[in-house]
Amino acid sequence: MTATNTKNVMVIGKIHPAGQDLLEARADVTVTHASPDDPNLADQVADVDGILLRIYPIDRRLIDNAPKLVIVARHGVGYDTVDLDALTARGIPLAVVGEANSPTVAEHALYLLLTVAKQGAAYDRAMRDDDWAFRETLAATELGAKTLLVIGFGRIGTRVARLGQAFGMDVQVLDPYVADDAIEAAGCTPVAALGPALPEADFVTVHTPLNDETRHMIGAAELAAMKSSAALVNTARGGVIDEPALLAALRDGAIRGAGLDVFDREPPDADNPLFRLDNVVLSPHIAGITAECMVRMSRTCAENVLGAFDGTLNPDNVVNKEVLTAR
Ligand code: NAD
Repeated sequence: MTATNTKNVMVIGKIHPAGQDLLEARADVTVTHASPDDPNLADQVADVDGILLRIYPIDRRLIDNAPKLVIVARHGVGYDTVDLDALTARGIPLAVVGEANSPTVAEHALYLLLTVAKQGAAYDRAMRDDDWAFRETLAATELGAKTLLVIGFGRIGTRVARLGQAFGMDVQVLDPYVADDAIEAAGCTPVAALGPALPEADFVTVHTPLNDETRHMIGAAELAAMKSSAALVNTARGGVIDEPALLAALRDGAIRGAGLDVFDREPPDADNPLFRLDNVVLSPHIAGITAECMVRMSRTCAENVLGAFDGTLNPDNVVNKEVLTAR
């Protein structure tokens, strides 16, 4: 192997050793580790052939500064921090981890649905506060026989729908990019718009990407259309729900509660007013982070990087598939 064949991979953020070992086992690959807290990574990519990315803004300037770049592999499936158009213009694939984290995030959405319905945090607090009488408050509700509106019927949304069905929920689905037949074949009811669906739903869960079309798709008007007994779960991206409008709806009792894994600003400010509300269950963007999932994601994104170098990149994992046909 000549030195000119060496590929330089920049890993931005910490990944599980399972994937790192795959990269480091290759004699023709050199790995450098970069911190997502370094604001100047765009100035350090002149020799980089591949980027393996947890979270960092991969903007046009960084891409322009990386003339050798042939792959950006996201350690996840969301890519709202990546300038996809700039990559596509250069013919560079953006790869994600496909289904590696879908079951994990779907489980977390169910955890949030159950915790909001059952008041998990309040039960725990009542026990620690010697408040046995809490059991008379009748604050908890059931998922069974309730209507669940799943927004976004992709890898995660389809799994959440199945889990909801297992709890006896009537599952409605809004996804303009999935045929009604496919939604019906999954035993769900397709809905064409939020307007008529929101007033019917007892639980709403969001599984779309964040983009110009979905930003603030749940805002003040949509929250006002929901039942006051309904709850909202977001494991997608903070920006899909208008956070100030959600705060107001939760404060005013316009909806019953929310389960949130993702926020407008991450990490959120310590004085985020959501943290003072009892009808919110929170988690630190952890829906896809379990021991098992970190191994799968780390391996898959390392394989995506090596696949791009070797000409064996799995096309199912590529977001901008048009760059593959252009080759
Ligand atoms: P996916 O691409 O398989 O599914 C997204 C679905 O959303 C698609 O079916 C698409 O048609 C649908 N959609 C797009 N625009 C829509 C709209 N306007 N209205 C309704 N549906 C719309 O993606 P996925 O793997 O299911 O992941 C979904 C999102 O979850 C990701 O984009 C990511 O932002 C988020 N996510 C979060 C975490 C976390 O840790 N919290 C982890 C993984 C993914």
